[in-house]
Amino acid sequence: MSIDTRTTLLAADAPGPLPGRSAALSPSRASDFMQCPLLYRFRVIDRLPSPPSPAAARGTLVHSVLERLFDLPAAERTPDAAAALVGPQWQELVDTDPELAAMLEADEDRTQESWFAEAVTLINTWFVLEDPTRLEPAERELYVEAEFDGLTLRGYVDRLDVAPNGALRVVDYKTGRSPSEHFEAKALFQMKFYALVLWRLRGVIPQMLQLVYLGNSELMRYSPDEADLLATERKVKALWTAIERAATTGDWRPRTSRLCDWCDYKDLCPAWGGTPPPLPLDAGRLAVDPSVTGGVDPADD
Ligand code: SF4
Repeated sequence: MSIDTRTTLLAADAPGPLPGRSAALSPSRASDFMQCPLLYRFRVIDRLPSPPSPAAARGTLVHSVLERLFDLPAAERTPDAAAALVGPQWQELVDTDPELAAMLEADEDRTQESWFAEAVTLINTWFVLEDPTRLEPAERELYVEAEFDGLTLRGYVDRLDVAPNGALRVVDYKTGRSPSEHFEAKALFQMKFYALVLWRLRGVIPQMLQLVYLGNSELMRYSPDEADLLATERKVKALWTAIERAATTGDWRPRTSRLCDWCDYKDLCPAWGGTPPPLPLDAGRLAVDPSVTGGVDPADD
């Protein structure tokens, strides 16, 4: 399809949220667009699934164990108790998504036993970084949503701690390694996004944003101030404007970076010799469909 034809088709398909639904954005989709507009297109317009990956599934399992552990009385939140949750939590995940079991069976490098052992190693690292017997989270897997001038921001916060004086600490678990200095801003963007939404919801700026990296046993902490969060609000609104512009023009150009090595769609990317699928006729509408642009998954790592 030539550029001219594509543009004509898009012009006839006025972008905008579906009737009765306001525009919405999640931190994951905002990050996709910031990283690469074509990556955003593949996820949001073409709706190409990410192939199931052992790393993502392990992340989901570890998140789920860390969440369930807080169901136990404080004194019983031990490494052994957490390890005992791994099997049952994995079974729950497989019951919901049987493809996970198939993925593990197809993985020639792992048995179920070694798979569980990997999860337990990450969980044990968490016990080095935090002491759950001294924590009483106010919320776990908290869904948050707030509207900013017609744009709804949504996400899931892994854990929210509230101090006796009302100070909020937002905690996010990452099963990978902490990012290099170059990618720190990207990791913090997601946390500032949550902080902005919580500020709007609770009227309090979270005092601490804490990323817990289990892959290399590191904590990243940041205390945002009002100027930070106002800057984040401006950034998110500007991003949405850029997404709407791309939805109108059909210009979803690739932006290459070191992250291309981890892109699920590299084979389809013209920057790497691939050919993307034809742009759907209703691409402009799909690009801003709030069920996808604001789609959130509590297991997002
Ligand atoms: S390979 Fe890189 S440039 Fe291509 S779509 Fe993925 S992130 Fe974008």
